[in-house]
Amino acid sequence: MAILDRLTGLHPAALRRAVRLAESGKPAEAFPLMAIAARAGIPEAEYRVARSYLEGSGVPPSRSEGARWLRRAADHGSADAQALLAALFVAGLAVNEDDAQGKSSQRLFEKDSSQAPDFAMALHFAGKAAEAGSAAGQAVLGYIPSKDDPDAAHGWYEKSAAAGCPEGCLGLALSLAGRKQPEDRGRIAAEVRRAADAGLPTAIYLLAALTEHGTGNCCQILINVMQIPTLMPSSGRSAQAWATVSAMREPCSLPILSSYRWTIFRATPNPNPFIRNTEPITMDDVIIIGGSFAGLAAALQLGRARRKVTVLDTGLPRNRFAGHSHGLLGHDHKPPLDILAEARQQLARYPTIRLLNARADSISGTIDDFSVLTGDGESLGARRLILSYGVADQMPDVPGFAESWGTSIVPCPYCDGFEVADQHWGLVWSGPPSHNYVRLYHDWTETLTVFADGHDIPRDIRADLARRNIPVVDGRIAEIAHHRGQITTVNLESGRNAAVDILFAHPRNKPSASLHESLRLATVNTPLGIALKVDERRETGTPGIYAAGDLANPAMASVTTAISQGATAGISAQQSMLV
Ligand SMILES: Cc1cc2nc3c(=O)[nH]c(=O)nc-3n(C[C@H](O)[C@H](O)[C@H](O)COP(=O)(O)OP(=O)(O)OC[C@H]3O[C@@H](n4cnc5c(N)ncnc54)[C@H](O)[C@@H]3O)c2cc1C
Repeated sequence: MAILDRLTGLHPAALRRAVRLAESGKPAEAFPLMAIAARAGIPEAEYRVARSYLEGSGVPPSRSEGARWLRRAADHGSADAQALLAALFVAGLAVNEDDAQGKSSQRLFEKDSSQAPDFAMALHFAGKAAEAGSAAGQAVLGYIPSKDDPDAAHGWYEKSAAAGCPEGCLGLALSLAGRKQPEDRGRIAAEVRRAADAGLPTAIYLLAALTEHGTGNCCQILINVMQIPTLMPSSGRSAQAWATVSAMREPCSLPILSSYRWTIFRATPNPNPFIRNTEPITMDDVIIIGGSFAGLAAALQLGRARRKVTVLDTGLPRNRFAGHSHGLLGHDHKPPLDILAEARQQLARYPTIRLLNARADSISGTIDDFSVLTGDGESLGARRLILSYGVADQMPDVPGFAESWGTSIVPCPYCDGFEVADQHWGLVWSGPPSHNYVRLYHDWTETLTVFADGHDIPRDIRADLARRNIPVVDGRIAEIAHHRGQITTVNLESGRNAAVDILFAHPRNKPSASLHESLRLATVNTPLGIALKVDERRETGTPGIYAAGDLANPAMASVTTAISQGATAGISAQQSMLV
């Protein structure tokens, strides 16, 4: 008994070791151990042995051995084997020998070309796999024209996609496209994107089509490219599924299997899809995320260099709370939104610049092949990225503060000091850098009050402030009393109120989006938050990704600086693509 126990314990151990070896790139060493476990009837080992034979990995390729082990694994309950076998039956790439010669085994890839699909066998194995919770099996079930029940098929795709199966995501997108509901457009694009991100070739092709032609007409694009019949009330599910499967079937070769993707989800795209915009499918040179001062400045340089650019923007520049922007040569004392509107107008003369009112939700890819997914579900591709999505100031939880921000509570004397020179200024202390502000402000006013706002201002600094005749008001600020944003008094928790004409404050800020986090871009700490780390060409540590403006500016923020950095980023991105 003890010997038997030891022996049975050996097989799982052999499998574990085999998996480790296979994963560390030693398939030839892994195979004999896998075979030991497979011969002992361990379904996972049988499945892996099948894959090894089919892919010629660690063992000379053998379709018959692959088929035999795949069937064994499926019969012994391997959901992976069941799902793969089902997919091969749907694609007509497996033949059930039971039917042909009375033997219970499979033949695969007869003459390297597909046979008629065997939906009965596919249903049998996909059902078992799906029952065992296999998302892959659920995706195959969605394709099998077993019943005239599109909702059931759709339900399987939903389940499969929810579990993250790329084939399920693609199936769901195609099913939704067939329904032609405008409200599904975002979802369709997002599901195609998920499948494409997982490397599904059909999805990558479709994504390119959607990127080129936009998601507005995505149902029709998918229908045309994939030749999906739309779901008319009179059309049966069987007809639809047959047509879909036959449109997707293509000759299979073993390397296709090795990419872990099923042949039935590889399309033979319609060579003449009816799409109104018939431009060739291309990608942008640069996508700029954040189309304010930095982003538009980058776009201008790129557009003038005739590079294809898409600018995504959500229309929330940092200084939108200010009535006027100051210090920008040629645009001094103009409303910031007017400056941006004029800039956008000027960019309109460049045919290669596209301005989109859209949010960038996620970024993936590497240099020469970046993808950006927008909040509308549109997927865009570009060779370079410029991040200029700015920062958002974090308003303190003090009534009246946010309402006065940009009007009578401001961050920067260069921006707003001139208009209130010689008036009574207040400064909300926010740490050691505040001491420098005291010296700086002296060029604008001699009447300054410091609000400690709970900070422990060191004794030597207090002495310096006293020497400069600058009073310090201790205690926390409870409220800003104001009239339509124009400050009247700073009210303290102690009950004391202090009148000032303007208050300078430096709340903490954070990047307006978290895209840099998913890209793991390096940052540097600034006194009030973080900034992306860039080199002198404004390239981040990730090749092909540039950053400009407040998002990547650890020093004093200004429109002029953002524009300068944006222009540098645009030129650097353009020059990095020279041939
Ligand atoms: C109250 C106040 C007053 C100021 N006054 C002046 C002044 O008078 N003069 C001056 O020189 N400077 C001033 N500044 C500083 C100035 O606002 C900034 O330095 C400047 O706006 C930075 O430009 P930017 O392009 O880097 O970022 P922003 O102008 O902040 O623009 C970032 C853009 O990215 C967009 N965005 C964010 N997330 C996404 C996303 N996921 N997808 C797509 N788009 C996105 C936003 O909607 C926004 O349009 C002021 C700042 C404040 C707070």
